[in-house]
Amino acid sequence: PIYLDNAATTQVHPMVLDAMLPYFLENYGNSGSQQHLLGWQADEAIEKSRKVIANYFQVKSRQIIFTSGATESNNLAIQGYLKNFPDKGHIITTRTEHKSVLAVFQALEKAGWNVSYLPVDQFGAIDLNELRSSIQAKTRLISLMWVNNETGLIHPIKDVCQIAKEKNIVFHCDATQALGKIDISKGKLPDLISFSGHKIYGPKGIGGLVISNEDIQIYPLVFGGDQERGLRSGTLPTQQIVGLAKAFELIPELLTKNEFYSKWKNRIADLLTTKFSELVQINSSDNSVPSILNFSIKRFDWEEMFEKLSKLALSNGSACNAKSQKPSYVLQELGVPSATALSSIRLSMGYFITEEEMEVALVYLEQQLNLMK
Ligand code: PMP
Repeated sequence: PIYLDNAATTQVHPMVLDAMLPYFLENYGNSGSQQHLLGWQADEAIEKSRKVIANYFQVKSRQIIFTSGATESNNLAIQGYLKNFPDKGHIITTRTEHKSVLAVFQALEKAGWNVSYLPVDQFGAIDLNELRSSIQAKTRLISLMWVNNETGLIHPIKDVCQIAKEKNIVFHCDATQALGKIDISKGKLPDLISFSGHKIYGPKGIGGLVISNEDIQIYPLVFGGDQERGLRSGTLPTQQIVGLAKAFELIPELLTKNEFYSKWKNRIADLLTTKFSELVQINSSDNSVPSILNFSIKRFDWEEMFEKLSKLALSNGSACNAKSQKPSYVLQELGVPSATALSSIRLSMGYFITEEEMEVALVYLEQQLNLMK
């Protein structure tokens, strides 16, 4: 199939793989072994990589904590920060966060935290006034994703940074789907930022947390050998970290493909609105990343739909929800009826897709949608 599921995961970039290879067979030392050359080499490679990532965010090396991915980073940021408040208090997020944030908030709610889950409008946008008015005296944390993984919607992160700063509240941002898709390195950053390697043509199983505000105290969730300043114990995966840094170096190159994505997103959206307006509803707003387009096929069985579109590797929302055969909670929060939400498609283009493949995909999509009319 033609791969159009890059929001779920991406192919490792060949340059990333090349950078990683020496750390499997040759430089395989443990960066914690400080008695011999192999350990020193691993440590040096990790610290060089950390510097690359720190430079991207314009922070110091010590402000980057390596984790197994964004799920762990989100857990570390939210749970690790809230350990500062044994008396608990109030926390704010939205109803359309990734499960790795929502499930943490739900667990905290069970443990006695008071939680505001902000609603979203038909495009998935939050109301900044609603955010402002939800803030209480005991609000400890705001967590809001930069880009939604199902619709591609871009949230107003700079405004939220400003609001959080005015109110002296820590702001955590899950930037997993923003990194490599829009330029997030400029200007004021959220206090805590989560990201993952496998969404930016890096390896799976590696990600990070940026502690961009150094005044913030984070408590560890994983205890052991005190790696990562004691915030995340465990032998550091040198090859994953080297691959992740190479992926960061390639981010400017990734962003050059946005024009291509915009062009094709518009072409597909035009096809859907001009020829299939009765059958199809578009769920991505204009304020979404160029590579992601989410649309629903109305009144059509979702299993049959995916069968009809089997030459394209698509997703019906997020990869994690695909197996559960439940309508996407994100789309339901946008007001999409559950039957329509079930037959929803997230098409996400990636760096390696070619004009020719997109031509083929467009023709095929039109042909198959005609069969569903
Ligand atoms: N947050 C968002 C917005 C995501 O899209 C994903 C990946 N589906 C994650 C977090 C989890 O990332 P990881 O797979 O690295 O744990």
